[in-house]
Amino acid sequence: MEHKTEYKITTETYDVPYPQNYGIPFHIFEYGKGCYVWDKAGKQFLDFGSGIAVNALGHGREDLAAVASDQMKKLIHVSNLYTTEATLELGFKLTSSGNFDAVHFGNSGSEANEAAIKYARLYSFRKKGEGKHKILAFNNAFHGRTMGALSCTPTEKYQKPFGPLIPGVEFCDFNDEAAVESILSDEFAAVIVEPVQGEGGLEVMTEAFASKLNSLCRDLDIILIADEVQTGIARTGFPYASALVGLEPDIITLSKPLAGGLPLSATLIPKKINKLVKVGEHGTTFGGGPVTCAVANRVLDLIFTPPFLAEVQSKGAYLGRGLEALSGRYSTAGRVKGLGMLRGLEIGSPDDAGMALCDEIIAKAKERGLLLLRSGKNILRIAPPLVITEKEMDEGLKIIESILEEIK
Ligand code: PMP
Repeated sequence: MEHKTEYKITTETYDVPYPQNYGIPFHIFEYGKGCYVWDKAGKQFLDFGSGIAVNALGHGREDLAAVASDQMKKLIHVSNLYTTEATLELGFKLTSSGNFDAVHFGNSGSEANEAAIKYARLYSFRKKGEGKHKILAFNNAFHGRTMGALSCTPTEKYQKPFGPLIPGVEFCDFNDEAAVESILSDEFAAVIVEPVQGEGGLEVMTEAFASKLNSLCRDLDIILIADEVQTGIARTGFPYASALVGLEPDIITLSKPLAGGLPLSATLIPKKINKLVKVGEHGTTFGGGPVTCAVANRVLDLIFTPPFLAEVQSKGAYLGRGLEALSGRYSTAGRVKGLGMLRGLEIGSPDDAGMALCDEIIAKAKERGLLLLRSGKNILRIAPPLVITEKEMDEGLKIIESILEEIK
């Protein structure tokens, strides 16, 4: 097919066939190995972002590529009219804890949350009757960009141009027990919440708040949805962060690292919901295809083992200590946030000036060969591959320190 091959990517020109929502400039990456990626010009970068908390096992995995390639040669797709061994195996793995009865597979975090919202509303409709459809979400939450998930993501910039959103969604402050207590009633079908607010500032759920959500949802028969798209599959050193913070969700949503970088999501639902669902009420063409599921089976076999989890816990603590040291040394660096290998360092103040400073650090780090993320306005977010070594973490922390030294 004939196509344009000349293009310019500069800070002023937008000459690429992508919608402008991704901003400029783009950076063209070519390959990766372990915790490093290389761009088209051959420059090496240490990856402290994992493609937004996705590449948990690092880049250039021959083992995952072999699993995908073997499965592709056998069968790439059958639809959910049928199933495959790979999909069944993953379903059984994800329900093996006994807390969940079934898994709805999808292709992205947003889709996993859409499914969760739909199952919760379906449950409420069948159990409590019409009109008990409200959903409670939290300020600074991020649940995705599709209309349902977006309706639960109360950031003006993300929501405003796209209204009207789905009705019946209410918000209150995260970690505010009194607020949830006063807002929740049996008119609610669901509460959707992240154990750590991944995009909205890395605030960690308190045990008191988790316990309040558990008891209110239990008493009012409200479906408690834990959005573990970012925290799930050991990012915090535990299979699910819910268990770590004491949250007892009815539904868990997963995605980012699940298939080693391929798009796959899972919505884990309990028996009390599954038994009310009728054939044809929800579905997807691609979700749970054999290739993504085969890779996910390998990912879970590698990650869900006691030694791997113990290592992530100890590396997460190491990263936390490294950031604490920076926070003590530089006045631009504030609190250390997050859990495990999903960490943040507060930069300056929580306003536009703090955001500009945070973005400046991210840009400088990139020039020096380190990829970083932001969370909320002014939190430097670090979510490296879980296979990162202490030496590699030191290398990245040193780059951050050199920048903090410069801008202090
Ligand atoms: N939930 C959470 C907690 C997320 O962090 C994200 C993505 N950052 C999403 C949902 C949406 O996932 P996706 O972009 O794959 O739709």
